[in-house]
Amino acid sequence: MEKVYLDYAATTYLDKRVLKEMSGYFTETFGNANSQHWFGREAEKAVVAARVKIAGLINCKPNEIYFTSGGTEADNWAVRGAAGAYGDSGRHIITTSVEHHAIYDTCRAMEKKGYEVTYLPVKSDGIVDLEALKKALRSDTVLVSIMYANNEIGTVMPLGEAVKITGEFAKANKRRIIFHTDCVQAAGALELDVQKLGVDLMSVSAHKFYGPKGIGFLYVKNGVRLEKLMTGGFQERKMRGGTTNVPLVVGMAKALELAVSEREKNNARLKKLRDYFVKRVTGEIDRVYVNGSMEQRLPSNANLSFEFIEGESILFSLDLNGIAASSGSACSSGSLDPSHVLLALGLRIELAHGSIRFSL
Ligand code: PLP
Repeated sequence: MEKVYLDYAATTYLDKRVLKEMSGYFTETFGNANSQHWFGREAEKAVVAARVKIAGLINCKPNEIYFTSGGTEADNWAVRGAAGAYGDSGRHIITTSVEHHAIYDTCRAMEKKGYEVTYLPVKSDGIVDLEALKKALRSDTVLVSIMYANNEIGTVMPLGEAVKITGEFAKANKRRIIFHTDCVQAAGALELDVQKLGVDLMSVSAHKFYGPKGIGFLYVKNGVRLEKLMTGGFQERKMRGGTTNVPLVVGMAKALELAVSEREKNNARLKKLRDYFVKRVTGEIDRVYVNGSMEQRLPSNANLSFEFIEGESILFSLDLNGIAASSGSACSSGSLDPSHVLLALGLRIELAHGSIRFSL
């Protein structure tokens, strides 16, 4: 049976060009990038080159890139690290009600540590309510974390405006409010120029843009303080202990380079395919609804609710027919609870239960 993979938001395959770039660093240039000898120096050279490449692609300085084990670690570090470092000047965090669990559950954990968290509502199209952000900012707010693109419904948030609102409030109140954005789903599809976006912290994960799994990075603007998440060795300028995974770092840089150079072509192709797919499914099956804005949306995402059918049953039937999709985010699809993202849109529980994410 022919297999059709429509779950690229969960993960992508590794681009063969990326694999080729990485392969020598598993078997030949295998040294520890912190070692003083030739093997170490060669590995370190590759890490430096990858850091410089990534910095150029997101328009920052190489020393503002910190390699992590992926998006989850970068998100955890951003929230725990910034809230911890600035905890003396306030204990209020703002995020949205539709974040990935890596942010959402981390914020819940911070509540247990005595922080107060405001979860901004989204409108019925899944876009964060900026008026609510204006009202939520307080004299003790230390961190705002708003994702660029949503992992379930693909909606793209008005990040520039959110940064502006936060910056103006901080200036008027003579405060430092750190702005973090989870760009794990945005990377590949949207431009990630940190100067244009104006953010202080940004999380990225390689396996969403045809890079390897288990590697990501956190952009940390120079001057922003963070508490450490991983204590240990002196890697990553003493901020994140752990032996650098050289082949994965090299692979991530190559994957991001390809994603940026092929972005326009890929986006145009994906949007055409996705629109055709949505048109046919909603046109030929009764009572199917699109979740989230169709305008402010990643070109690869189609999240549809099928009335009267459980998402799990649809997934099962699709799987029997060789089609891979997902209900809710990949990480939470083992759970029977309806997605917090779909509930935040105001969707009825039955419709939230009958939703499937197709990602091209
Ligand atoms: N943030 C978002 C928006 C995601 O979609 C994901 C993964 O699905 C993550 C964070 C976690 O990234 P990782 O799988 O690299 O830990």
